[in-house]
Amino acid sequence: MNFCYDCGSKLEKRIPDGDNLERDCCTECDSIHYTNPKVIVGTIPTKDNKVLLCKRAIQPRYGLWTLPAGFLENGETIEEGAFRETKEETNTEVKMGNLYAIFNIPQINQVYMLHLAEVIHEDYGKTSESLEVEFFAEKDIPWEELAFPFVPTTLKNFFKDSKKGEYPLRTQIIERKPR
Ligand SMILES: [Zn+2]
Repeated sequence: MNFCYDCGSKLEKRIPDGDNLERDCCTECDSIHYTNPKVIVGTIPTKDNKVLLCKRAIQPRYGLWTLPAGFLENGETIEEGAFRETKEETNTEVKMGNLYAIFNIPQINQVYMLHLAEVIHEDYGKTSESLEVEFFAEKDIPWEELAFPFVPTTLKNFFKDSKKGEYPLRTQIIERKPR
């Protein structure tokens, strides 16, 4: 960020009084522009112990399989955002379940929050964001073609928990290797 959202003047990085981190501070008005982590919301859409996965039609990771997820929008609850993202990527309106997984990814300033969801209609299918949308049983998951580290971790936990029929909230940290 180079210019103030409020008055358009130049910003400088400095530690404001009473703070302990450098912030983008306006050189003309008193505005301080904070940047904070982004929240990504999504679901694990299931039916009969199979999981609905999406083959990405967009970059990054074009052509790889993922769980439906995307950035939370202003004014949404995490549940509303997860429902919307699932509809955008799988075309179907799921029945939302409990919050199941939280991933902290501090290196890229992201927090993932994934809900369980039940697929209750037969209208799932490809969308502008997904080349293919298909159910996979555990043995058929394309483990070598999954898009992001949170996907295999979530799927492994899900199939393990599904054997007991109990789905405790799982919170994890994903470490990304420096590039
Ligand atoms: Zn300003």
